[in-house]
Amino acid sequence: MNNIIQLLPDHVANQIAAGEVVQRPASVIKELLENSIDAHSGRIQVVIKDAGKTLIQVIDDGAGMSITDARMSFERHATSKIKIADDLFALRTKGFRGEALASIAAIAHVELKTKTENDEVGTCIKIEGSKISAQDPCVTPQGTCISVKNLFYNIPARRNFLKSDNVETRHIIDEFQRVALAHPDISFSLTHNGNELFQLPAANHRQRITNILGGKTNEKLVPVEEDTGIVKISGFVGKPEFAKKSRGEQFFFVNNRFIKSPYLNHAVVASFEGLLKDKSYPSYFLYLDVDPKTIDINIHPTKTEIKFDDEHALYAILKSAIKHSLGQFNVAPILDFDRDSELDTPYNYQSKQASAPQIEVDRNFNPFQSENSARSYNPSNSGYRREKPAEWESLYSGLESESTSEVDVRQIEFESEEVTGNLFAGKEDEIEKSTFQLHKKYIISTLKSGILVIDQHRAHTRILYEELLKNITVSAAVSQQLLFPLKLQFNHQEMEMLQEIKESLEQTGFIFSSFDKDEVEISGIPTLISESEVEMLLEQLIADFEKDVPDNGFSQTDLLSKSLANSMAVRSGTMLNSAEQQHIVNRLFACKEPALSPSNRTIFTTLSIEELDKKFA
Ligand code: ADP
Ligand code: MG
Repeated sequence: MNNIIQLLPDHVANQIAAGEVVQRPASVIKELLENSIDAHSGRIQVVIKDAGKTLIQVIDDGAGMSITDARMSFERHATSKIKIADDLFALRTKGFRGEALASIAAIAHVELKTKTENDEVGTCIKIEGSKISAQDPCVTPQGTCISVKNLFYNIPARRNFLKSDNVETRHIIDEFQRVALAHPDISFSLTHNGNELFQLPAANHRQRITNILGGKTNEKLVPVEEDTGIVKISGFVGKPEFAKKSRGEQFFFVNNRFIKSPYLNHAVVASFEGLLKDKSYPSYFLYLDVDPKTIDINIHPTKTEIKFDDEHALYAILKSAIKHSLGQFNVAPILDFDRDSELDTPYNYQSKQASAPQIEVDRNFNPFQSENSARSYNPSNSGYRREKPAEWESLYSGLESESTSEVDVRQIEFESEEVTGNLFAGKEDEIEKSTFQLHKKYIISTLKSGILVIDQHRAHTRILYEELLKNITVSAAVSQQLLFPLKLQFNHQEMEMLQEIKESLEQTGFIFSSFDKDEVEISGIPTLISESEVEMLLEQLIADFEKDVPDNGFSQTDLLSKSLANSMAVRSGTMLNSAEQQHIVNRLFACKEPALSPSNRTIFTTLSIEELDKKFA
């Protein structure tokens, strides 16, 4: 029989490898940035055009390469970072596979200019599809400049697979931020189509975080420090009250490499226990330093997971370190610069006379008043709080009666979702048909043929969704002017996103009076919402957009309407009077698609007489 196995030619092997290493322009940026860091650069500039599809250029002032090295760097498995297998267990560099440059050169037009400190002239190499087309001496400063043009020019399927410029740019910004956060001592810049997106001077960790995420971030950070034999932890967590609607600001770095770890994330969240509002995510920027021997370094180039020898110990240490920081922070604010000594407990406090606590009894309290009125909506702190329980209630707190504990559970469950106030601007004075509310969640109505059960939240979401869509696409919405413009802070990336959807938001009734680097000023809002909801609403919107990046104008409008409708719609757990119930029923059946919520969930169900009859058979 004939032998059929052959070695693949280099350029084919490289192209296959490239498929793994380079998924999108952002992967190229990551690899090139890591190379520049490994070359001990102090300053790294990134220039991109058309979201990296046309040009990606990384310029550093690092060690540079000799003529031979410059040529070698494009060979597969050519690396200066490890020599023997044992080196893998003492790895402090980002790279070690020697695959990145070979892969990139297989699928793009690459130009390399590089010069070491000791060389008089530099080297310029041009390579495309793994073939060197030119190599010349050139005049260039110390360091390396790599330009990657027309990525995937020879793999059209890959090129077509790339997302819109917005989406690809967001991926690039993500990678850039991760690397920049891991290396605050290096100065970075990022320029896209001539616009400077980031200009980050060398700084400490706190300043770097603030430079990337916006000036207001500084006051939200609580320092975390811990040094044990297993791990050294440093960095910051965000104060609980600034927790976000999305996971956007969660960063772990292990030995200066960004990683994702659901397990360690759990440790952080656990340490925040009891401090966070429902469905909010704490921000964190945590730097873990461990002995390279104790982690599995055989990390896939595009993956961010990592394996630790002793994950359980790490979990415990991390959790206790953060708890400790949060605890300290609650007692006295600790700031690493400008600590205000006035805030510390004065020494003469001990000599002061302690005063007996006063007990106040609310004599007007009527336990038979409707349950709903015991809670109230407090717009000034933009949260929904249960009012302080009357003193006598605490007398019952230890009782194990089944019925009371059930009520309590329900109250807690809905506490953060309670929405009262006038959600229904245009109540219709219609003759009441028989509807009633079940479990503060369903609206029950009768039909000729049986019973109709409607999910109130989903129904209202559908109604608002269609209304918003109409406003955005057809008619102009009405807005209410705010007496005092609302100023809201967002980080750089969130601002970019808001900018993208600004026009659509304006069509729903928002009026933006200014759009700064990290702050928006809002002078008008849609009539459907109240001022105190605006921040929550926009945060949710940004979170939804992060999760589900829209590719075109239509899906943007759709996502925007979905997100706003969902945030604005009446929640489960909200008591509705009969006019409000009626309003929802009537409006729902005037919708184009009353059966399904915008996210395709069932809105109502029916129970026919026959089905009932069967149950009684
Ligand atoms: P790896 O980083 O895994 O070693 P690469 O293909 O990314 O593999 O790079 C190959 C080699 O080229 C590196 O080991 C390094 O010696 C050299 N190199 C790449 N980029 C730079 C740079 N910006 N400055 C100096 N040397 C570089
Ligand atoms: Mg590399």
